[in-house]
Parts: sequence; C-alpha cells; structure tokens
Amino acid sequence: MLEGIEIEEGKEREDFAGFKIKPKIIAYPKSEDEVVRIVNYARDNKIPIVTYGAGTSLAGHLQCEGCILVDMKRMDKILEINEIDWYVRVQPAVNLERLNVELNKKGFFFPPDPASYFLCSVGGATANASGGMRGVKYGTFRDWVLALRVVLPNGKVVKIGEPLRKNRGGYDLLHLFVGSEGTLGIITEIWLRIIPLPQRKSYTLLVYVNDVEEAGKLIFNIRKKGILPEIAEYIDDQVVRALNRQLNAGLDESGGGAFIISVEEDYLQKLLDLLAGKKYIITEGDEAEKIYSIRAQSAIALKAEAKLMYVEDIVVPVSRLIDAIKRIKEIEKKYNIRMPVIAHIGDGNLHPNIILDDPVKAQEIFEEVAKIAIELGGSVSGEHGIGVQKAKVLAEQLIAHNGKEVLKIMKGIKDLIDPYHIMNPDKFVELAYKLSEKNEGSISR
Ligand SMILES: Cc1cc2nc3c(=O)[nH]c(=O)nc-3n(C[C@H](O)[C@H](O)[C@H](O)COP(=O)(O)OP(=O)(O)OC[C@H]3O[C@@H](n4cnc5c(N)ncnc54)[C@H](O)[C@@H]3O)c2cc1C
Repeated sequence: MLEGIEIEEGKEREDFAGFKIKPKIIAYPKSEDEVVRIVNYARDNKIPIVTYGAGTSLAGHLQCEGCILVDMKRMDKILEINEIDWYVRVQPAVNLERLNVELNKKGFFFPPDPASYFLCSVGGATANASGGMRGVKYGTFRDWVLALRVVLPNGKVVKIGEPLRKNRGGYDLLHLFVGSEGTLGIITEIWLRIIPLPQRKSYTLLVYVNDVEEAGKLIFNIRKKGILPEIAEYIDDQVVRALNRQLNAGLDESGGGAFIISVEEDYLQKLLDLLAGKKYIITEGDEAEKIYSIRAQSAIALKAEAKLMYVEDIVVPVSRLIDAIKRIKEIEKKYNIRMPVIAHIGDGNLHPNIILDDPVKAQEIFEEVAKIAIELGGSVSGEHGIGVQKAKVLAEQLIAHNGKEVLKIMKGIKDLIDPYHIMNPDKFVELAYKLSEKNEGSISR
C-alpha cells in the first residue's frame, strides 16, 4: 500500500529538546496523494502518525514509539507569491528564513519570526502557532495564516479558510487547525498573509541593565509612553556569557543582562528619553541584523553547554511581569539551580530555561514555574505549544481559568476529527484531559 513512497525503517531521532522519537518507519511523501495513502495505511493498520517538520519543537510534540513518522521535507516548494492579493502559498517544509529571502526580493515580508526561523518549517510553525521576536508588534502565526489544505485522519482532503483579508464563513475551523500540533491532520499547503517591507528607518538598541526587573520596568515605561517596538527582548547575564563563549558575541558581561529593542525612527527620541543614564548602543542596518541574529541564537548557545534543558514558555499580562520574574528568581534560589532567562519581554512571554541533569526534578520545577503563570492570570505556553511536557499544567490552567467543560469540548473536537486515535495521539489536549481525569501522570523523555 505504501509502494512508491520513500520509506526508511526503524531510524531513531531526537528533537531539539532531547525527546526521543522511535518510529517504526519514516515516510517522506512527495505529494498530497502520497500523504493520503500514508494516512489510510496508518488508519487501516492502527499505527499512530507523527508529522515531522524540522524537529525544533520544545515540549515533546514529536515523541513516539512505534509510530509512522511522516517527514515532510520533500514537500518544500513555494507555490505562489501573489503581489495583488498579498499572500504566499507554500508547501509545509519551506524553511521560514528561505521564505523571507524570496519575499524580500519582491519587496514583501512575512513577520512572525520564531527564534528558530533559520531552522524551522512553515508547516511546523503553523501547527505550533509559533510566535517569535516580532510578536510584540505583529502577533503569531495565528494572525497570519489565511488558509490550509489538510489531510484528515479519515483520509479526506479539505481546504480550510480562504486567502482573503476578511472572511466570515462558518465556524472558524482555520484557527482550530493552526496550533493543533499535528493532532487533527497533516497540513499539505498553507496560504500566509504577507505585507510590504517596512519603509521607515528602524534602529536596534542594545541596552545593558542591572537585572531582569530593570528590564521589566523599562517595558512598563515603554508601554506607558505609547512606544510600539518591533522587537523587545531580554537575555539575562547567564545567557550573555553563554553567547560570548559560544559565538564570540562581544557582549558586555559586567551587568545583569541585555535588553534588545527595535523601534521605527518616529519612536526613537521618546525611547532615548527613557534610557537616560543607562548604558546602551544604537545600531542600524547590518549591525542591527547582527544583534537580532545573536539574540535568535540564545537558546542554541545555552543548549550547547547543557546536558538537559527544559525550556519554559510562560506568558503573563505585561502588568504582572515583575511579579512573575520575582517568583521565578525565588524558585531558582530555592532549588539552587541555574535557570537562565530569555524573554520576549515586550509581550510578557518568558523563557526561563531549567538546566538540571535530573529529569524528574527538572519536570517538577518546570511545573512549579508554569503554575506562576496560571496564578498570575497568564498561560503555561505563549508560543511553543503543549506537546507532552505541558499537558498536566495545561489541564490545570484550563480548569482554573475556563472550567473543566472547556477541556471536555477540546477533547470532544479531537474525538470528532480523529475517532481512530491515530493523529499524534496521547499528547496536547488529549493527554491534558486524561491527566485531569486521573489526576496523576508523569512526563518523561
Ligand atoms: C533555538 C530555538 C528557538 C526557538 N524560538 C522560538 C520562538 O521564538 N517562538 C516560538 O514560537 N517557537 C520557538 N521555538 C520552537 C520551535 O522552533 C517552533 O515552534 C517551530 O516553529 C517548530 O517548527 P518545526 O518545523 O521544527 O516543527 P516540528 O518541531 O517538526 O513540529 C512541530 C509540531 O507541528 C507538527 N507538524 C509539523 N509539520 C506538520 C504538518 N505539515 N502538518 C501537521 N502538523 C505538523 C508536529 O507534529 C509537531 O506537533 C524555538 C526552537 C528552537 C530550537
């Protein structure tokens, strides 16, 4: 039944975060028809399917044992750049950086930029509803995906959404699939909204701060003054040192980390007024690009020096940032561990990275940090998604903020679309529901 499809047997992989992927077979479809045949085969033989983009997800989304791993890498074409309707239509394995190189040639760009933009696939980022450094201004993939073609677990192919700027047709199934982590179907084509490249000059400032609290206060003031940054990021002193060691980044190590902010020229003076007395450099052009790229590689620099690293992705209302930061620091002190912080601080999204060789203890601490977000009215995941690692805390968040009924509705949607239980099963909402019923469960790699 899989004749003619490129198949590899029994080759194990690890995702970026070290979660094990132990497939029975790996399939490399070259077309939507081949994807349909793989799904039909998996359903008839009751074998779970895990769809693989570039393997950079961070919460065990791809973990499996005995699955068919559907690696989309052969479906990597940019199919259409529409300069009038302002969309681009792509196959899922298109690399995000490559996409922007092609769009830039025509004067356009696609803003969402997970810091893995040079590694990740558009399909994976769509299935993860990824955010990124420009999220503070442009939002996440959720705000930019217009339509999808999807192979459902029953083998049928559907087109969801339309490449339109406005569309009020029916229930919003599109946003159900964006961020569904491969649990509802395999995405084979994606329409993304694009916009013209910004015309105004912009500046990137590297501001040295004494600590993360000072970075938090800076963001409060920036928002009060009505400054809309393009990026507003923070890396703490441990990240600065790792970047210097790994990339020769040349950052000043004497303070408590760096705040990186890009603004259009109209906002520059207002920002400089706020920075009076602080140590900073202003860059533009290639120099600004270099700072952006150093920031993007922060997690890679940390990971290069850690055996095991658990990447948090909590998000809180910006007004609660300082409370969250103080409580994170208390946990770091309480357990006497290293927990370097990378943050999309402009939108309240914090990535404390738990570096600890004991996976059980690390997961316990991970959940303790996630609870800070729940208690402060935030979310356990701003952009990375749930996978297996955050399923327990997702259940706690939904029950605390929305009620168990909402979790039940989510589980009902999974059952409706995938009654065969084959599409990336036992993760995300399904696992959250299961753990909430049993009130138990441990997550391992
Ligand atoms: C260094 C680093 C920095 C990062 N920074 C950010 C960041 O700033 N913001 C952010 O949001 N994330 C970030 N991430 C997390 C991750 O990179 C993103 O979520 C990314 O977009 C995932 O893309 P991928 O192609 O690697 O997907 P994968 O990891 O391969 O897959 C992700 C999920 O999508 C599913 N999937 C993949 N392709 C398809 C498809 N065609 N159809 C259906 N389901 C599919 C998978 O089954 C899985 O559940 C970072 C990761 C790293 C390693």
